[in-house]
Amino acid sequence: MQNPPNITSLFTEFELDNRLLKAIEKLGYETPTPVQQQAIPPTLANRDLLVSAETGSGKTAAYLLPTLQQLLALPAKPLGVQVLILCPTRELAQQIFGQCQQFSEFTPLKTGIITGGSDFKKQQLALTKDTDIIIATPGRLLEHFQLATSYFQNLSVLILDEADRMLDMGFSDDVLTIVETCNKQRQTLLFSATLTHFGVIKIADKVLKTPKVIALNTLHDGHRNIAQHLILADDHDHKLKLLAHLLAHESFDKALVFTNTRLRADELHNSVRGAGIRSGLLHGEMDQKDRNRVMGLYRDGIINTLIATDLAARGLDIKGINLVINFDIPRNGIDYIHRIGRTGRADEQGITIALVKHTEWNLMAGIERFLKQEFIRRTIKGLEGSYKGPKKLKSSGKAAGSKDKKEPAKKADVKKVKIRERDKKNVGKRRIPSDNKSTG
Ligand code: AMP
Repeated sequence: MQNPPNITSLFTEFELDNRLLKAIEKLGYETPTPVQQQAIPPTLANRDLLVSAETGSGKTAAYLLPTLQQLLALPAKPLGVQVLILCPTRELAQQIFGQCQQFSEFTPLKTGIITGGSDFKKQQLALTKDTDIIIATPGRLLEHFQLATSYFQNLSVLILDEADRMLDMGFSDDVLTIVETCNKQRQTLLFSATLTHFGVIKIADKVLKTPKVIALNTLHDGHRNIAQHLILADDHDHKLKLLAHLLAHESFDKALVFTNTRLRADELHNSVRGAGIRSGLLHGEMDQKDRNRVMGLYRDGIINTLIATDLAARGLDIKGINLVINFDIPRNGIDYIHRIGRTGRADEQGITIALVKHTEWNLMAGIERFLKQEFIRRTIKGLEGSYKGPKKLKSSGKAAGSKDKKEPAKKADVKKVKIRERDKKNVGKRRIPSDNKSTG
């Protein structure tokens, strides 16, 4: 579709319907905000999203505009409600409703609102009569389920706005009950002020399909209930000492310790058991019977520490986990939030501690940058190491210069590199067997 020449806003780059562009122009929006820039294209491409963005960031338009666009692009009007937006409070529902009315002003799309304190019968009509978009708070919507539960069978898009607040307000079960009744083929967008929140990742695991994660503006968020600590370590042995100390002295109900590999998990398990800690092991190569047994012991509190790899811990949903230790730093920000998402309940405080040696500094800095959060540096009395972080930092928080990037080369590695360089020089002179172990 061609955009009319009089519309000059940068929103034209998103290939939105002219009727939406006209509304945007009427509202006086000129430049898309960062969350709009990042969330609109993948939403238009039908991706599920997990987004951290604060109120005031323009997040409502970030999900409304592409969603309305998708409805307008449908060849024929489908049956039933197409978009459901769940949010925690009446006031927020009203605001979203207001924006939705403004954006859809020049379209035939109809929006209904379902919150406590308003006429139930009118709302029932909105649910059953031709409404395209429903904006609702979970409690009142569930009251309507006493009459029927089939309203969202043909849903195209489900949006959970301010998901962290919905969970804080105790709506977790209500939200899941509603999601259960929604079309399984739908697209789902989850917006939260923070990703480092108990329960947000758990619910994301349940409702999203391989989402694109977009993290924005979490620096000033007050909802965070997981404190993020970081302890610098000199080497592996130093980490083992720190781990033993933390498990012996931190106060926690259940601790979860993450490693990047099964071998490391095995090693830690033996090490902490040797130190008299009641621990269990969970990794992907254990059979289901053994996994269930360990999870049962952990759930029942017979053991209070679990050493796990990422894959094994996905989907782990056990109450009372309030200490997560990253013995190895995860390979990326998404794995990191999955790990800390294993922590306890919405009303609890939790803590995560990352043990960071110099080879992991940049990885950790990347995760902090991804989450827009700076972790609290801690030291343990009597176990202070000599590594104090990189001498110079780049603006990204990563180490400047190569010294902090790599583990000091071991003699054997130096030899391998020399052989590789020699072999490179000899290419053409001599055939190198492709499975030559000494070259890599
Ligand atoms: P929100 O974070 O969705 O609550 O939006 C905060 C406010 O910013 C609302 O009043 C919106 O109307 C306004 N807004 C959203 N996107 C833009 C934009 N691209 N340009 C100007 N104002 C905007």
